[in-house]
Parts: sequence; structure tokens; C-alpha cells
Amino acid sequence: MPGNEGAARRAAEGPASRVAMALLRLSQAVKRIGIADARPAGLTPVQAQTLFFVRRTKSFLTTIGNLAAHLGTSHPTAVEVVNGLVARGLVVKRPDPRDRRVTLLALTPAGEEACARLDHWLDSLEEHLSGLDAEALDALERGLGAVIRSLQRAGLLVVGAPCRGCVHFREDAAAGAAEPHYCALIRRHVSEAEAAKDCPDHTPAA
Ligand code: SF4
Repeated sequence: MPGNEGAARRAAEGPASRVAMALLRLSQAVKRIGIADARPAGLTPVQAQTLFFVRRTKSFLTTIGNLAAHLGTSHPTAVEVVNGLVARGLVVKRPDPRDRRVTLLALTPAGEEACARLDHWLDSLEEHLSGLDAEALDALERGLGAVIRSLQRAGLLVVGAPCRGCVHFREDAAAGAAEPHYCALIRRHVSEAEAAKDCPDHTPAA
């Protein structure tokens, strides 16, 4: 069979080819798990990802452009996903108070509830990992982390992260203020709650 021939060829090609094939298979399984886990909430995986993006991302960075980068889709596709969620009353669009040309996304109370119902989304994937011992999990985490960083550097993946650990973060630049921290990249003060949320521009300190 052609599939078996391909697998045999890759097995003979070396570890990187075999791991690439394993990752492809994993992505297919993760897709299936995502569909199955999102279905009870009446959502598609991309809608679930969008709700989580809005919940976890700093409120002043929830733009459609950042969402499109996070989902790895085109801008028009992200607009379509958002419009579907707006029509269902799960997300609202608001102009950025600092620049009214920019649209920001926020969850409605119904969107917050939908997120809460999705809190166990992808848990079944975790169950499949629970069979590995601590050493194997540690090696897997380090290896996958290196692959993710390489994909990020190549511009193929956007992974948001909180402010701490970012080269642009100035912790307690205005200690005692409501927004005590400062971002030197976007030049604005940041509250503790916002600092803890994800940012697509997070740049790890060396
Ligand atoms: S660029 Fe860094 S410091 Fe600025 S908001 Fe993003 S994570 Fe925080």
C-alpha cells in the first residue's frame, strides 16, 4: 500500500522524518478531540479557540488581526468566525478607546459561560499523556518547546504569553498605581490583571 510504503520510507529516513510524521498524526487526533470536546457546547473548535483567545488575551490586544494570527487563518476568515460569535451573543466588538479605528473583542456574560463550559476542552488529550512517566514528559515538553520556538521564529505560529519574562516588561515602574507596570514596546502602563494575560508580542528575555 502506498501509505505503508511512505511510512517505511520515512522510518528509513531518520528520526526527524519519523517525528514529523508522528506530529502530523497527532495533529489529526487533536483535531478530532477538539471537534468532539467542543460539540456539547454547540461550538466548532475554531469558535472555542476564539473564545479562549478573547478570554486569555490582554483586553487592549484582542484585535481581529491578532486573532487571525493566533488561529493561523486569513483576516476575512477571522472576521467570519467573530461575526458568527457576535450573532450568537457570545462576543461583542468595541472600538479601542485609545484609537477608535481599532476594533477590540470582548466576551459577553454568555460568552464567559460558554468558556466555563469549555474548561475541560482537550482534557482527553491530557489523559493520553498521563501514561508517560515524569522523565518522558519532561523530555517531550523540552522537545516540543524547541519545535514551537522554531516555528514561532519562522513566523508559522503565534503563541501569546503573559508579561513576566518579556524583555519589554518594566515591573512596578509606577509602584502603587492602579497600573503599576509598563510595556516599553507599546508604551503604556499595565495593571496586574492585564500583565497576567497573554500578549502575542511577548519576547522572551535571553
Ligand atoms: S510586549 Fe511584553 S511587556 Fe509588552 S504587553 Fe506584550 S508581553 Fe507585556
